[in-house]
Amino acid sequence: MKKLLLSVGMAGVLLLTLFSAAWAVDQVVVDHAAYLRTEPALDATKLKLVPSGEKLTVLDASNQYWQKVQTVDGIVGYITTNSYYVKPVTTPAEDSTVHNQLTRQLKKGDTGEEVKQVQQLLSQAGFYQGKLDGEFGALMEKAVIAFQTKYKLVTDGLVGPQTWAKLTAVAGDTTSPGSGGTNPDQLTRQLKKGDTGEEVKQVQQLLSQAGFYQGKLDGEFGALTEKAVIAFQTKYKLVTDGLVGPQTWAKLTAVAGDGATNPGTSTVTTKVLGKGTSWETTMYVIKGQEPGKTVWVSGGIHGNEVAGYKAALQVKDWQVGKGTLLVIPELNKSGIKNNKRNSPYGDLNRAFPQSTKETADNALAKAIWNEYLQYKPDYLLDLHEGYDYHVQNSASVGQSIIYYPKGDMKTYGEKLVAQLNRTTPSSKRFSVLRYPIGGSLARAAGIFGSPAAILETSSKDPLSTRVANQLTAVRMLLEHAGLDPVPVN
Ligand SMILES: [Zn+2]
Repeated sequence: MKKLLLSVGMAGVLLLTLFSAAWAVDQVVVDHAAYLRTEPALDATKLKLVPSGEKLTVLDASNQYWQKVQTVDGIVGYITTNSYYVKPVTTPAEDSTVHNQLTRQLKKGDTGEEVKQVQQLLSQAGFYQGKLDGEFGALMEKAVIAFQTKYKLVTDGLVGPQTWAKLTAVAGDTTSPGSGGTNPDQLTRQLKKGDTGEEVKQVQQLLSQAGFYQGKLDGEFGALTEKAVIAFQTKYKLVTDGLVGPQTWAKLTAVAGDGATNPGTSTVTTKVLGKGTSWETTMYVIKGQEPGKTVWVSGGIHGNEVAGYKAALQVKDWQVGKGTLLVIPELNKSGIKNNKRNSPYGDLNRAFPQSTKETADNALAKAIWNEYLQYKPDYLLDLHEGYDYHVQNSASVGQSIIYYPKGDMKTYGEKLVAQLNRTTPSSKRFSVLRYPIGGSLARAAGIFGSPAAILETSSKDPLSTRVANQLTAVRMLLEHAGLDPVPVN
């Protein structure tokens, strides 16, 4: 597509107007399925689950956490800015084009659309990783010189007709990954496990859009792709041979084209703990299709620590490719209802065994602890909030991960804190602490052999920040444990 338009450009058709229109629009591509919502808030109504691989047009990016976008089918809503879910499209939109000549020579210090376009071309050609900001700075000059050196042009760091011509030629030849391509009407061959190439990649893309595949779009027909094909064939009552021939292909293009979104293939079962009591609460058992570790995520043990249970209520809708994700979003449901820390029995996070010889203190803690004992999770993360920032006020554990030194929990804690602190001001930065308090669920789990931790955000932050940080912690733990999470929020 790009090549074709480029040769049209080379033929001398000046497409300046088209060019500037295309560049005024920013796009993002969905990396992991994410919900489009009516408002910039996690509890806003979900409009649709946007599948991975779909491109969105950004209408407004002024909010730090949410961007207003439009889908290919014209739906306008809000989607997270979290780079795990959406990434900027660094290639020009497919309907954009490259104009055939510069209006002036470009040099360091220049700014504007043409500079931005050169940055884009340098980036496509693999010579520039900086911002596409239309400012010809030192980094860009360096890239120009590197490009000129490679292609034996005069290495003056200026972009004149020679450099420009070479740039458009080189960048036009480069097929950038992720730029997709149009789906052919039919396959050129039957595809099977072991095959590789563009057509396999398209099948992966379609399977992903249809909600059957969460793996990489790498054009390699491996076991995961085969499994997805079989699941798809089963669902649509096709011959379940794991091969992609004309029947499966036709159904795939039809289903994916419908925008049908099946968020995943995990099996979800629920259990009600304490049925009929004032503290009755639900546990979600989310099983991936492949075996793997078991991870426990819970929130709301302190009923007034809002971000923890808000995040856990999102996590209960996630999917995993492997293993088992156990979620009890609202451990202390009556506390949550009344926005109170304590349960009807007092502080629930002091009621768990303090040695392997003990049991839990009360009916609610016992109901929770029985589930722990039944599953003996490989990891346990309990979501909390503190009232301040630990680095400013050591009396508060806000902004910390408090791990029990078992297994590789410390490694996870350090990795998590490093990640969270990339987007957290240093005055509010997260700390790695250890030993959850005696009687806490996390400490009891540690004593009984599970790598476990408490996550604490600070209730001084905006709720959206806190929930986002909590979700990052959960997602990273699930990745750390190899569950292949699909966090569909
Ligand atoms: Zn707490």
